[in-house]
Order: sequence, then C-alpha cells, then structure tokens
Amino acid sequence: MKTDTIAAISTAMTASGIGIVRMSGSEVFTIIDRVYQSKGKKKKLSQVPTHTIHYGYIMDGDEMIDEVLVMVMRAPRSFTSEDTIEINCHGGVYAMKRILETVIKNGARPAEPGEFTKRAFLNGRMDLSQAEAVIDVINAKNEYALKSSVSQLRGSVMQAIKEIREQIIYHIAFIESALDDPEHISLEGYGGELQQVNNKLIGKLEKLIASSEDGKMMKEGIRTVIVGKPNAGKSSLLNVLVGEDRAIVTDIAGTTRDILEETIQIHGISLNIIDTAGIRSTEDVVEKIGVSRAKDYAKDADLIIYVVDSSTELDENDSEIIEMLRSKKAIILLNKTDLQMITSEEMLKERIDKPVIPVSAKENKGIDLLELTLKEMFFHGEISFNDEVYITNIRHKTALADALSSLRQVRESIEMGMPEDFYSIDLMSAYEELGGIIGESVGEDLVNEIFSKFCMGK
Ligand code: GDP
Repeated sequence: MKTDTIAAISTAMTASGIGIVRMSGSEVFTIIDRVYQSKGKKKKLSQVPTHTIHYGYIMDGDEMIDEVLVMVMRAPRSFTSEDTIEINCHGGVYAMKRILETVIKNGARPAEPGEFTKRAFLNGRMDLSQAEAVIDVINAKNEYALKSSVSQLRGSVMQAIKEIREQIIYHIAFIESALDDPEHISLEGYGGELQQVNNKLIGKLEKLIASSEDGKMMKEGIRTVIVGKPNAGKSSLLNVLVGEDRAIVTDIAGTTRDILEETIQIHGISLNIIDTAGIRSTEDVVEKIGVSRAKDYAKDADLIIYVVDSSTELDENDSEIIEMLRSKKAIILLNKTDLQMITSEEMLKERIDKPVIPVSAKENKGIDLLELTLKEMFFHGEISFNDEVYITNIRHKTALADALSSLRQVRESIEMGMPEDFYSIDLMSAYEELGGIIGESVGEDLVNEIFSKFCMGK
C-alpha cells in the first residue's frame, strides 16, 4: 500500500547530545537518497539491508547540514510497519529543524502528533489499547505506572478483552445458528448454560473495572492529605519523605507558610500530597489543626496521613481528627518516638482501627513500614503484573462498564425467560463495546482524538 511519507523530530526540542528525525512511508528511500551522502559519496541507502546503521552527512543541495548516523528499517519490520528511517543527528534544535526541513523539501510531509503510532495501529502492528499504552509509557512518572503501561503495551489488556469477546461471539453464533436451523440445533436448556458463562464473564468485567481504581492510583499517584496538630512534626516528616528540605520546619507553631503540593515517590508509589502548609497558615483554631481544611480535601483524597506527637497527650482536637478518619483510608504516623512516650500505639489503636506506625522524623526511623502499609492498603500487597491486568485508561473503563451493563441485561433476559434473540442483541452490544477498547470497528473520529493527544514525533 502506498502511503505518503511523514517526518518529525522524535526527540525533545532542547539542546541535547543526540537528536532523532524520523521518517516513515513509501518514499523514505527516494527521499533519503536525495539528502544522504556517505563518506565515499557512493553508498545509496535504498540499496542497504534492513536494520543497519550508516555514517554520513545530510546535505541540502551542496550545503552540508550535519554529520549523522542513519538507521534503516524496512517494512514490515519497523514501529509503523512501513519503511522507516531514523536520522541520528547532533541534538541541537537548529540542526534538527534544518534536517526536518530538508527532508520535507525533498518529499516528506510533517507528521501530525501521534501519527507514527497511529500508523502502527492502522497497519495492524498493535491494537488500540497497545497504542494508548505508548503514551502512558512516555508519560509514566513512577515505577508502577511504567510497569502497568509496559504490560498493556505487551498486550495484557488486549489479551484479556479478546478472551472475553471470543466467548461472547461463540454464544452469539450459537444462538443465531439455532434460530436459523431449529430442526438440528436445539435451544432446550440453553438459557441455563448461557447464564453460567454469562455470570463468569460478568465477574471478569467487574474485576477489570475494580482494577481501574488501583490502576488510576498507580498511574497518577495516591492523592494524600497530611493532617495533625501544630508541632506534631508534619513538615519534618514531609521533609524526610521528600528527601530534601523543601518544607520549612520551625519550633514555633504556625510558621510554615509555603503551600506545598508535592509528589513523593516511595519505592515506586507516588503520593500526591495535596496540602500541607495550609494547616498552619491561619489564626482560626479549627483551621490550625487542619480539620476543616482537611475535611475539604478529604472528600477527594485517597489517603489521609495523620501525624501524632507521641510525646504529648491526645486532646479534643485529636478526637475531632480521629472522627474524621473513620470513614477514610488513613495511616497514623506516631511521631517523635525518640522522646519520652506519652501517647502509645495501643492508646491510638483503642480509639480507631487504622494502621499506626511509630516513626521518628528526627532520626529518620520507621519510614520503611509506611511503604509496606501503603502497598497493602492500596495494592493488596505486592503488585504483580504477570497475572493481573490493571485498567489504567478511563476510556477502557467506560467501555467495560457499558459492556457490563449489556451482560447484566442478558442475565435479566434469561431470568425473565425472554426469547433467545433478546440475549444475542445484548451480547452483540457487549461484544462491540469491548471491541472499542482494542480498536475494532471504532470510528475515525475516536482514532483521531486518541492520537492527537500524543506528542510530536511519536
Ligand atoms: P508541624 O507543625 O506538624 O509541621 O511540625 P514540624 O515538622 O514543624 O515540627 C515541630 C517541631 O518538632 C520541630 O522542632 C521539629 O524539629 C520537632 N520534631 C519533628 N519530628 C520530630 C521527631 O521525630 N523527634 C523529635 N524529637 N522532634 C521532632
């Protein structure tokens, strides 16, 4: 198939060691032969074997633009499945731009954002969920985000969806054949059989949808609020977690002025700390202890970290905070354990059933336990990417929810003893809704929208 040849700068547009200008399409060899010159001036890249690298120069007519290494990948063994050339040049913004201009002058056209990946999808090199994973890999900000995206890129989501769809289509086909040929295929007792399969499929969809909560937190981080009375050691703990002195710590209550919204990485888990400094930035007593402010944030927060000074007694302010924690995911950090202990772990546990972790911000102790607790709380212990599929994409989640309601409709129809063609209508909807995840029979608009979110050159 003949395609126009697209070109883009695929590396960042800042000065760096190496820059890459990439071309893909039917005319890449015609174009590269016009602009590439080997040292001996004899070699033509249209003649070289695939997956080889060649040293030489990019020429704009007689003018030499840069010294380069050119990588040659012939169709279908490339990212796009088309003939592809990658020109590795010096990573100067001007050099990269000049090379791009030169290949465009010689027949390429500028690629749209995501167009290389779009071609990979349209050429069947990957399904839509894998193509979407490409953006997620690029945007991954922590280890789990990267792992789940790579797993999706390798086809984990596609595989899970395909398996469910295969079962659905089998039953659609069965119902249709039976309705066409009632003499030979009986639907006697079929409802019960389908109900069993359908219930299993419903279970699978529910599990995938449930995974999206973990998936979202893996990808975007856990939205966290730190609360606690003045002087409990919130800023100090934050400093320990962040690993540098970003929050201002003082002995005088109420002096933390800077608004902090930091993302902290704890062994691959991202905690997005929503607010910290605000707790002490006002004269209002309730505001000071952070309760009212934390209440605002708690609505959206995935986690509340409550810092308690173990060298003081619990008072009515603590009681108020404890009440607020009851309905939330919360971890209590019992701080200042290097001092004489007045409030103990047991005393807190009597008041509320939440994990209590003794720590000392001063001596940097107990922080490891926080990591373990987080993993248990949010990711059910260790996160395994071998057998678990995590849904991290909101589009996938929506499609799964639609498919789920179609299958629930099937369940209801069977229970109500409706005719079989009712089952197949809803099974078909579920089949198509799931197909949207992997990019089957999706409209051009959706494809364009998805790929327009990509960065240039990908
Ligand atoms: P915040 O008001 O909750 O943010 O508390 P800060 O982090 O500003 O800490 C208040 C005071 O407690 C400061 O003097 C800290 O040095 C001190 N502090 C914090 N954590 C510890 C700890 O683990 N042990 C001891 N001994 N002092 C601490």
